[in-house]
Amino acid sequence: ESASETSAEYHCIIDDKETPSGPEDSHEFQAETKMLLDIVAKSLYSEKEVFIRELVSNANDAIEKFRYLSTTEASAFTDVDRPLEIHLAVNKDAKTLTFQDTGIGMTREELVANLGVIAHSGSKAFLAELKNSKGDPSGIIGQFGVGFYSAFMVADKVTVYTRSVKPDSKGYIWTSDGAGSYSIQEGEHVHSGTKVVLHLKPDCMEFCDEDRVKGILKKYSNFVGSPIFLSGKRV
Ligand code: ADP
Ligand code: MG
Repeated sequence: ESASETSAEYHCIIDDKETPSGPEDSHEFQAETKMLLDIVAKSLYSEKEVFIRELVSNANDAIEKFRYLSTTEASAFTDVDRPLEIHLAVNKDAKTLTFQDTGIGMTREELVANLGVIAHSGSKAFLAELKNSKGDPSGIIGQFGVGFYSAFMVADKVTVYTRSVKPDSKGYIWTSDGAGSYSIQEGEHVHSGTKVVLHLKPDCMEFCDEDRVKGILKKYSNFVGSPIFLSGKRV
């Protein structure tokens, strides 16, 4: 892409070219993660829209990490010249909402360490608070936030396509229905950075409505340093 395209108000980087290759290995989530996922998936918490803030902030964090590392150890990384952006797209036919960033991406080891285990301080605080409280966890979800796992409030299946910017990194496809295990498989045509596809639950179809998503993004995008695009249009 040329510099003029990167600054354009309209363009989309999301495609469906990724294809699985190689064997799929299944992993169990850590026990604490299972417990958290179970609560998150069953939650009737009304402000489900916070998952958008969480996934956009993860995308932005990944871009910030890449930006920092590419200025300090530029020669060690691939794809240093690409635009640093966050893209979202809705697909009503497929019932999906997709987030893609051109951030640092993850290796296979990082996928296991970061998405299989609870690292997020908010999630830890949530679980600690849950032990003290009885009954409805809804208020606690809102108070602490549950990071990446908040995707399972609205999705019954989440697929993550990721490729680390570290040299010679392969692309990986991580998938889970949030029910206790996840799988990892190598993939071809996976872009550098990370793409998260949410397969929306039947009662969460509002999140593949472009106007609804745009409204939520407008609330949070002020706090995000990287440019955000929705269906190719700058938000
Ligand atoms: P937190 O952001 O507080 O660390 P999360 O649950 O939101 O916790 O995310 C867990 C970890 O997964 C992050 O710390 C990061 O290492 C990894 N991660 C999540 N989303 C992305 C992404 N888009 N790109 C790269 N790494 C990611
Ligand atoms: Mg986060």
